[in-house]
Amino acid sequence: MVSTSAGNLPPAPSERTAEPAAEHVPGRPRVLYLGGLGRSGTTVLERVLGELPGTCSVGELVHLWQRGVLDDETCGCGEPFSRCPFWTEVGRRAFGGWDPGLAVRTEALRPRVDRTRFIPGLIAPRLLGRHRAELREYVGTFLRLYRAISEAAGGAVVIDSSKHSSLAYCLRTEPGIDLRVVHVVRDSRGVAYSWTKEVRRPEAGDAAGNGALMTRYSPSRSSVLWVGHNLFFGLLGRLGTRTRLLRYEDFVAEPRAVLTELAEFADVPAGDLAFLTQSSERSSVLLSPSHTVAGNPMRFRTGPTALRRDDAWRAQLPKGRRVLVTLLTAPLLARYGYLRRSR
Ligand SMILES: [Zn+2]
Repeated sequence: MVSTSAGNLPPAPSERTAEPAAEHVPGRPRVLYLGGLGRSGTTVLERVLGELPGTCSVGELVHLWQRGVLDDETCGCGEPFSRCPFWTEVGRRAFGGWDPGLAVRTEALRPRVDRTRFIPGLIAPRLLGRHRAELREYVGTFLRLYRAISEAAGGAVVIDSSKHSSLAYCLRTEPGIDLRVVHVVRDSRGVAYSWTKEVRRPEAGDAAGNGALMTRYSPSRSSVLWVGHNLFFGLLGRLGTRTRLLRYEDFVAEPRAVLTELAEFADVPAGDLAFLTQSSERSSVLLSPSHTVAGNPMRFRTGPTALRRDDAWRAQLPKGRRVLVTLLTAPLLARYGYLRRSR
């Protein structure tokens, strides 16, 4: 399963143009972390950001150890993780090759430090007590990983769509990581509807070709999670971590303006955005293959892809559930401007 030969590296998304990332500090990887509750459009945002020169999108890196190293699931490029030349090179640079023992160790550390309930301790690590050394070890592994990804992609800014607020709080304790967080929000009613739908994970399919299902949540459960994650990401900015709030709906409405702004936030050149066609009717983006380790199944899509607002919830989410979600999430919905909008 674990291959240590480097192989020939295909050009990473970041290498398609010659423009280097601005002010890159060797050894201190810059990470653009996409945070927010799942089903908020982070996968499509990540893919589009990954088309910017000087960036490398890697999917939900938090799942690399289990789904990539241990389960050998399919990379976004279509190869099994162990046969993907990009990840083989990253593993060689970071750890001298992928080590299942390290994967087991990191997966064991995760529930001990990287959990929403530990966020108070992550804000003041002295509260973590004996878990402090485990936090250092856990985050140190991420640092080596980010550094190797950035180097393997020619000094690129790493785009990690892990989404979890607790991981962002872990990462901000490591001064060796130049962390910049894009806090992605989407209307809680759309998020709740999306969590009730069945979505298959083709990369985790069985021999008969049946994919495993992605997790589903009830509207009340997803509402509580939506509020919690968004409050924690809001607090992150007030604690001094560089954070940018982005509404998914604004991204699909004005992708050119949003990408230009996020490129500036990440200190990468926006370039000519030739991969993007924006119109008032319908925008689309030309997606190239990427080496994403986990995420929504749309990570496998390549070629022209429509960017359109997914408003299915307006027709499909039953009224009772809609009222429930609106009530449970009203203060933040109002703060993000969702209650101002008319249909
Ligand atoms: Zn790959």
